[in-house]
Amino acid sequence: MDINIKDTKRRYDFDFTFTKDSLDKDEEISGQLTGSQDVSGRVEKLIDDKALLKFTLNGQIIYPCSRCLTPVIKDYSYPFEEEIEVNGGVIHLDDYINDCLFINEPSQILCKEDCKGLCPICGTNLNEQQCNCQEEQEDEIDPRLEKLKELL
Ligand SMILES: [Zn+2]
Ligand SMILES: [Zn+2]
Repeated sequence: MDINIKDTKRRYDFDFTFTKDSLDKDEEISGQLTGSQDVSGRVEKLIDDKALLKFTLNGQIIYPCSRCLTPVIKDYSYPFEEEIEVNGGVIHLDDYINDCLFINEPSQILCKEDCKGLCPICGTNLNEQQCNCQEEQEDEIDPRLEKLKELL
């Protein structure tokens, strides 16, 4: 998505929709955009080749749960504001959309607050099923520790 502000006097308002496929490179983020996203905002021309770019991104992203990898759909609304350099009067909006998605990427996404995650040994999703790995591990506890436990 390009915005041409060559003939714009001061201010250019915009409102676009886009999808994962219409966006230039979104591989920097770990989430996947789903459905149609909205970007609305404005460009204000400043002196020289500078402009103030302001917009809000709205849409949905699917992130893998940080513990069990189950896909989690998240509605987002991210603001963006930056003074940018405009070469030749054209702003390649996708670059800033990508930046905005990247900056706002949550460090941790959980499918539910008490997600039990995957068993580190067999990979079973512990929210859905119990595996026996934990029990087997407990069997291997040093017998001396076992004695100690009894005393407690
Ligand atoms: Zn989870
Ligand atoms: Zn297991």
